Amino acid sequence: MLFDNHSHTVFSSDSEMTAADAIAQAESLGLGLVFTEHYDHIYKHTKHYDGTIDFRFDPSAYWDQYQQYRGDKLRLGVEIGLTPDSRDANLAFLQQADFDLVIGSLHFMENLDLYYPDYYEGKDKAQAYGKYLSTMGQMIVENPYIDVLGHIDYICRYAPYEDKDIKYSDGAELIDKVLQAVIDNGIVMELNTRRLEDAMAVTKLMQIYRRYQQLGGQYITLGSDAHKAENIGMNFKTAQHMAECLKLKPVTFAERKMEYCK
Ligand SMILES: [Zn+2]
Ligand SMILES: [Zn+2]
Repeated sequence: MLFDNHSHTVFSSDSEMTAADAIAQAESLGLGLVFTEHYDHIYKHTKHYDGTIDFRFDPSAYWDQYQQYRGDKLRLGVEIGLTPDSRDANLAFLQQADFDLVIGSLHFMENLDLYYPDYYEGKDKAQAYGKYLSTMGQMIVENPYIDVLGHIDYICRYAPYEDKDIKYSDGAELIDKVLQAVIDNGIVMELNTRRLEDAMAVTKLMQIYRRYQQLGGQYITLGSDAHKAENIGMNFKTAQHMAECLKLKPVTFAERKMEYCK
């Protein structure tokens, strides 16, 4: 069974999707599902924090409510935010529950949420993307306990530049460092399917994932990053086609162990 390995329910501050709706939608698509709620330790220290949204959650409440659903088709994971100052907090957080899957993601740079314009101000694309990719490489080395590297192309969602895609040829050295750190630490690259409607994004991502395969990468997780039930399994046909072309095997995780999707 193919899994959607990245989704957010009401335990994530920016989602109102209920577990029941998410599970029903995955079932109707014939997909397994992993909930990966946000844990961004740094968020409360950033300038946009006003107390109304908090990208942290209580693992014991999560477990109490969702354990009943956990099984062959539904796994309980977390998406932790990687920043230079969050390693100890992340490790302490992960001690609090037996998560099935841990995605590590970069959502913040210089204590700034990449969602907002601040980080990009005064930087051209090469500077903003270069720093993002070099930090990503460093974060993987410092946080080798994660199972999956989330959305390498996260910055492309919100950057203000006309051409938002990460081009392999523009950042080959930095991208190689990211991919090599992923492979060396037994981490799996996520193929985040949110941007796959865009043919140019597919072309540019194919170059990055082809390089991952060339360097020895064998596995990927597919993840929609759904915050609404209708987005579960989004663009999975395209993603499966990409995986086949690149000879990368889609996998999922249970109790932090990799499983093949058959
Ligand atoms: Zn994310
Ligand atoms: Zn996410």
